[in-house]
Amino acid sequence: MARGGNSIVKGIEIDEVIALLNRAYADEWLAYYQYYTESKVIKGIMKDAVVVELDQHAMDELRHAGLIANRIIQLGGTPLLDPREWFEQTHCGYDAPTNFDVVKILEDAIKGEQCAIGIYSQLSEVTQGKDVVTYDMVNQILADEVEHEEDLVALHEDITAFIQQIKDTMDL
Ligand code: FE
Ligand code: FE
Ligand code: MG
Repeated sequence: MARGGNSIVKGIEIDEVIALLNRAYADEWLAYYQYYTESKVIKGIMKDAVVVELDQHAMDELRHAGLIANRIIQLGGTPLLDPREWFEQTHCGYDAPTNFDVVKILEDAIKGEQCAIGIYSQLSEVTQGKDVVTYDMVNQILADEVEHEEDLVALHEDITAFIQQIKDTMDL
């Protein structure tokens, strides 16, 4: 534990920061795994472009998990050690893909990002002016999640517009 480092945390209990970070840590692993499986099972029109994005996002979520684990350890905590705890601690849950169609997978993933954005903006508010190191990390992650949502929404728009065009030319 970085004791001098911990003295910069003021106005919030370190244990509370660790607990909140562990919940986000659970979310990141589950988000990673959700993207990982979605990228494997996805089917349908323009899926190759979506697979590239899902794989990139999976790697980003895993990187976020790493950042959070390192911060938890700096604060003197322990990241969740048992994957079963992920399901007890997660804020955003885990939506196992049931419909593998590109459009449905994008919609599930957008929902996940919107949840992540909500969680990180709360964490940003809770740590602002109290734990500057966690605050900076949380805002970096938040910026990534905002970018993730935008990437997925743009793909969803392109693909649904393309499907509509095909329907129009076929006079459906
Ligand atoms: Fe993330
Ligand atoms: Fe994300
Ligand atoms: Mg992206």
